[in-house]
Amino acid sequence: MIPAAFEYQRVSSVEEAIELLGRDEDAKLLAGGHSLIPALKLRITRPTVLVDIGRLGDLRYVREDGDRIAIGALARHAELAADPVLGQSCAVLAHAAGEVGDPQVRHRGTIGGSVSHADPASDLATVLLALDADLVVRSPGGERTIQAGEFFTGPFSNALAHDEVLVEIRVPKVEQGVYLKHVRRAQDWATVGVAAAHVGGRVQVGLASMGGTPLRARAVEDALAGGATPADAAAQAAEGAEPPSDVSGSSEYRAHLARVLVRRALEQL
Ligand code: FAD
Repeated sequence: MIPAAFEYQRVSSVEEAIELLGRDEDAKLLAGGHSLIPALKLRITRPTVLVDIGRLGDLRYVREDGDRIAIGALARHAELAADPVLGQSCAVLAHAAGEVGDPQVRHRGTIGGSVSHADPASDLATVLLALDADLVVRSPGGERTIQAGEFFTGPFSNALAHDEVLVEIRVPKVEQGVYLKHVRRAQDWATVGVAAAHVGGRVQVGLASMGGTPLRARAVEDALAGGATPADAAAQAAEGAEPPSDVSGSSEYRAHLARVLVRRALEQL
């Protein structure tokens, strides 16, 4: 399908992007375009202006920052998958980035776009949630930090105001982490995805495709903290979740998959 008409502005700084967003509530950022362009073509969204931040090279980095790793919002999935700092100090995120879609998607899609799109099936959002990542956003008022747990407010919706730009994602260094993704077809979105990692002395678990947003498996985390075995804790993986039923699987099947994948992930940690 052909998108509805829109204006197009390519910006050369984050400040310019913020200014354009501030001028028009129906303006939208364009990063890698791998979620937004399909949505435009299906006319699910009809922005008046597309503000293209895709060439802002200063938002495309991965660097160590004390006990955390700072990732620019425009770092692409393929760059994260191959990044030596992530490979050494947060391999679970690098691995998950390598599991996103196909090579074309991974070479265009960005971590900032992936998180902002807030797809409940997003691989990276699920890992960031399990890691308690901090999301740094900029607006005319300055910068603020949103915890991943506060960011996802519903299916495809997030805590950003219309004139805010996600500029950086900060993750802790973690020695042990696992991301397991069950797909019906090769290179598909997760029927269920499970991220598990040791963070600050606790095991934290994120779930993809188990509800309206990426979710934390709190019942599993609390059971582990109380001394439960991986198998006993994993039995609670679907606790509080409302998994959807669709062509990839029924709600019951997803609940079963979550229990199986969480057990496997915990056993691999
Ligand atoms: P865009 O499409 O440019 O933008 C997406 C949304 O985020 C828009 O609303 C935009 O305004 C907003 N946005 C972008 N950047 C920012 C920012 N810095 N600050 C604030 N808002 C911003 N994803 C998975 O997780 N797993 C998969 O298996 C998977 N498979 C895919 C297969 C195909 C065929 C396709 C087309 C996509 C797939 N995706 C998958 C989605 C992919 O990861 C997208 O790249 C990602 O969701 C969006 O990133 P983007 O940079 O392309 O963002």
